Amino acid sequence: MSFETLGLAAPLLSALQKAGFTDPTSVQSSSIPKALEGHDLMVSAQTGSGKTAAFMLPAINKILANPPQQRGVSVLVLAPTRELAMQVGDAAKSYASQCRDLRVAVVVGGMPYGAQLKALSRRVDVLVATPGRLMDHLQAKRVKLNTVHTLVLDEADRMLDMGFIDDIESIVARTPSDRQTLLFSATLDGTVAKLASKMMNNPLSIEVSGHREKHANITQALLYADNAEHKMRLLSHLLNDEKLDQAIVFTATKRGADDLAEHLADEGFAAGALHGDMNQRQRTRTLSLLQKGRLRVLVATDVAARGIDVRGISHAINFDLPMQAEDYTHRIGRTGRAGNDGLAFTLANVAERHKVRRIEHFIGQPIPVETIPGLEPTRVARPTYKARKGGGGGGAGRRRPNGSAGGKPFAGEGGRDTRPSRPAHAGEGQGGAGRSASADSRKPHRGDRSGKPSSARPTGRPGNFSGKRPGSRSAAAH
Ligand code: AMP
Repeated sequence: MSFETLGLAAPLLSALQKAGFTDPTSVQSSSIPKALEGHDLMVSAQTGSGKTAAFMLPAINKILANPPQQRGVSVLVLAPTRELAMQVGDAAKSYASQCRDLRVAVVVGGMPYGAQLKALSRRVDVLVATPGRLMDHLQAKRVKLNTVHTLVLDEADRMLDMGFIDDIESIVARTPSDRQTLLFSATLDGTVAKLASKMMNNPLSIEVSGHREKHANITQALLYADNAEHKMRLLSHLLNDEKLDQAIVFTATKRGADDLAEHLADEGFAAGALHGDMNQRQRTRTLSLLQKGRLRVLVATDVAARGIDVRGISHAINFDLPMQAEDYTHRIGRTGRAGNDGLAFTLANVAERHKVRRIEHFIGQPIPVETIPGLEPTRVARPTYKARKGGGGGGAGRRRPNGSAGGKPFAGEGGRDTRPSRPAHAGEGQGGAGRSASADSRKPHRGDRSGKPSSARPTGRPGNFSGKRPGSRSAAAH
């Protein structure tokens, strides 16, 4: 299927061509025609699947039906975080780049009011907002939503998790009841279904891929650690992988992110922290360093990392396990962006196997246990999850080593296996070969500093990071 067959207007097709998009992703080919027909949609899709274009293209297409002078805010997109809202705003600008006089504004919390007031004082066609800041502007009567024809709730599950339900309800109540509503979420059940039943009109449900099939281009592995020191050595080893381009490392707490970024900086990595206690300027600076490839390791908390879309992130590493099983999918989704392949490593202690089990049930497949030669744990948990017959996880499960053998070794010297197991399901954009990152050619950790991948990368080592030691508090935007 090509974009031409989806029924989009010429300026959108030419913007897609300019962006280099040749074929729609599966969320785009299943959602765009239905959205263009005017249906309300509930779509289960991950970031990385191309969901932004899936809602933005039909929404802009509808705007084009009216001449600019007759328009007010036509499309409203609500997103849970500043970062995601800003990315959605950028995507909207690029998709609208060939449309005459189509204006996009982004209003998000933690940013100065000045630019937002200015943007809202002019005509706005597409408004992308986080709920809290939009409520401020609504209460101050700086913006009206009575002309909205398309309302998008992006990452609705996350907005609900973050406690935005009251704001969302007040905002939705200010939009016309005959609007079209497009809801995108990792899950479509529970509280999301309740929200949808309140504010959607006979929605069509589109499940592009269940949890089980998501992240097919991301190879997942679980590494058991005996203790904190062992975990740190495993992390150093992973970060020394010469195939590593950029990594995002997740910690459970903001303090943990700062401490780990500092520790990694001491080890010589161009590392920085990203978390909710940093002000927006610091966060923007850190993200921009990441985008430019000047930061090689980003240590982040869940909320701060939400929506990060950086093609260079080859590795996602769970240094601490996520609090919620669904955060696991959001975390590993930071790698494998835009059709690239990614590697996702989860470090856990044997005592945490119940948390691992919860994650495995959520994703519907076991996370293959792996070991690194020379860094094997003394204890490995027994397999925590058995794939259901005919259910998810068959492939990975079958190839999984039995836990009692201590897991499958990564390739090191003499290792037969050269990369972690593939996930269970092939899916959209899945290719068996041509991985851009793999776990092979890993070097033993000890005594091999010279082989650090970053040594060959002018920006990845100390002294190349704004003249400061990478990852030091100042470099980490503190
Ligand atoms: P999203 O899931 O919307 O965050 O998109 C993930 C990434 O895929 C973004 O970098 C998009 O620019 C890119 N993308 C979206 N649609 C396509 C497409 N049809 N072809 C190639 N890349 C795409």
